[in-house]
Amino acid sequence: MFEKPETTAEAPIEIARYAVFGQPIAHSRSPAIHRLFAQAEHIALRYDPIEAGPAEFPRRLAQFAADGGRGANITLPLKAAAHAACRTHGAHARRSGVANTITRRDDGTWHGDNTDGLGLVADIAERLRLDLRGRRTLVLGAGGAAQGVLSALLEAGVESILIANRTPERADALADRIGDPARVHTAYWDGLRDAGAFDLVLNATSAGHAGTALDLPFSILAPRALAYDMNYGSAAIGFTAWARAGEAGHVADGLGMLVEQAAESFRIWHGRRPDTESVYRQLRRELDA
Ligand code: NDP
Repeated sequence: MFEKPETTAEAPIEIARYAVFGQPIAHSRSPAIHRLFAQAEHIALRYDPIEAGPAEFPRRLAQFAADGGRGANITLPLKAAAHAACRTHGAHARRSGVANTITRRDDGTWHGDNTDGLGLVADIAERLRLDLRGRRTLVLGAGGAAQGVLSALLEAGVESILIANRTPERADALADRIGDPARVHTAYWDGLRDAGAFDLVLNATSAGHAGTALDLPFSILAPRALAYDMNYGSAAIGFTAWARAGEAGHVADGLGMLVEQAAESFRIWHGRRPDTESVYRQLRRELDA
């Protein structure tokens, strides 16, 4: 009788592939964060950094999809290009016009989300335990990061948002895009001295990366203001030092936001939100070392 030969060769296990696209990308902490989340949640995955500028992004993304890529984070300078590459969008990506998390659907098209704002709100509300409701908010900067967080801040109940940007036209374009003229306004940077005081001052500029100090009057800090820098590490030193000198009630950098926005991406891809505290503490220790 014919017997089926015993086989020792196992079918290759297909590891789900994820990535972060950006330029530069070597410094990105996203691979480490997602690997730690996956370890804690017992999920097998591969997560790679992929260097791409806007010109090569569509080709690199198509290659990633052909290689079985299921989802990706998107960072500077590709968030608008990623939004454009997606056929469908979640509410925050749709409203902001930028995507930081994309997910491949069964029909091969991409779905775009933006988790930056949810990450910022989670860090402020849950880690810092501060209420965002009713805060008069000043957003410094109008790039991809500012663009990504405004709708989540509005949803969290801030009273108003004033956007000031070095290039004022970009602030105006951002306010127009958000489309909430009752609550979102713009100001010239030079006009901040007369703009009053704010309960939340959010640095969403990249000035700290170049070591450039922002020219900011202390008068913008209300007595118990939260001064929040979306940057972390050496890029956050200038703004956070300014805020402490101005006696802001609370001062924070963007490390918590980084971990929380990653957790939101992880939830979109894997259906559960990982615990963020241990990963946050590990990154903080590494940053302080
Ligand atoms: P963009 O390049 O899209 O925008 C940069 C912004 O910074 C622009 O508004 C630009 O103004 C402003 N800017 C740059 N240099 C200066 C300066 N010398 N003085 C005043 N304004 C300046 O970057 P992103 O918006 O994507 O990122 C901004 C920062 O936020 C980055 O440093 C990034 O690392 C950080 N980030 C942190 C995240 C986190 O999870 N913690 C998530 C996303 C971003 P102009 O329009 O005039 O050029």
